[in-house]
Amino acid sequence: MNSTRHLQTLIVGGRPYVRAMMAVILLASVFPVDLFPNAPHEIQGADGQYSGKQGQVLLVQVRTGSRATDVTGRFLGRTIPFFTAPDGRSDRVIGLLGIDMQDKPGMHELTVEVHERNAARRLSYSVLVLKEKYPIQHLTLPSEKVDLDDENLVRAKTEQERVKTVLQGVSRERLWDGPFVEPVQGETAGAFGRTRVINGQARSPHNGEDISAPLGTTVVAMNNGIAQLTVDHFFSGKGVFVDHGLGLYSMYFHLSEVLVQDGEMVKQGQAIGKVGATGRATGPHLHLGVRINGARVNPYSLMKLSLDGARQVSR
Ligand SMILES: [Zn+2]
Repeated sequence: MNSTRHLQTLIVGGRPYVRAMMAVILLASVFPVDLFPNAPHEIQGADGQYSGKQGQVLLVQVRTGSRATDVTGRFLGRTIPFFTAPDGRSDRVIGLLGIDMQDKPGMHELTVEVHERNAARRLSYSVLVLKEKYPIQHLTLPSEKVDLDDENLVRAKTEQERVKTVLQGVSRERLWDGPFVEPVQGETAGAFGRTRVINGQARSPHNGEDISAPLGTTVVAMNNGIAQLTVDHFFSGKGVFVDHGLGLYSMYFHLSEVLVQDGEMVKQGQAIGKVGATGRATGPHLHLGVRINGARVNPYSLMKLSLDGARQVSR
């Protein structure tokens, strides 16, 4: 059914994809990999192969032997920290691999360095990145509504830089515990990855999901973490960034009210703000974003991961 349509999308996507497509057909016939939309997001990789769409989060499992002291992956220039498997088994580690919304479709290598007391090993996995089809929205607006004046331009740039610096910080401990929850129940716009073309000019793609909900609806933290940055920014309005550890951040924008302070520990399900329309927003909604080690991923992909077993192991 939609598997055929998906392959067709790859074919019409252009010649660069032909080779990738051949790989898809080959792999699909040989390995039981997750190639198609709506497939379950379990741990893959039993055969050294992973696959996922742009913006998707993959759970990667590496068998290490019991002497591993540090396990770190590299994927498309990003560093992926691995952590002890939640079931406490010492012979393997797991990591969350975020495929950025704009990672190039095709086959890429995930290298994993396993350090043991006196030795290091290097493992290699293939990750097939599949193209996601993002909506494009054309808008015509009066230019004074689109172009920022100098003051706001400087402000927006400064704010962007500050956010970038904070998101580069990687807390060495995993703070999240168990599954990630939806921060507010409302109507999702399917806006992840959408490109707006305003007056003929393409803007940067929308790096989160928008969830409509009535003004003042409670917004909760997706998981345990630390509120790193509570802001009132030009574009995102009042917002909170939650550091879940190991380079995983969730962010909540356009709030009418922020209920936590910088540096405050938050728990999964704890109220951290209220839905609003602050910053550049046309109506009350939550803009929800997730970054994993620098990759902009679809928050709903993170929520769909079966992390039920991923509870902290008490020692
Ligand atoms: Zn948004």
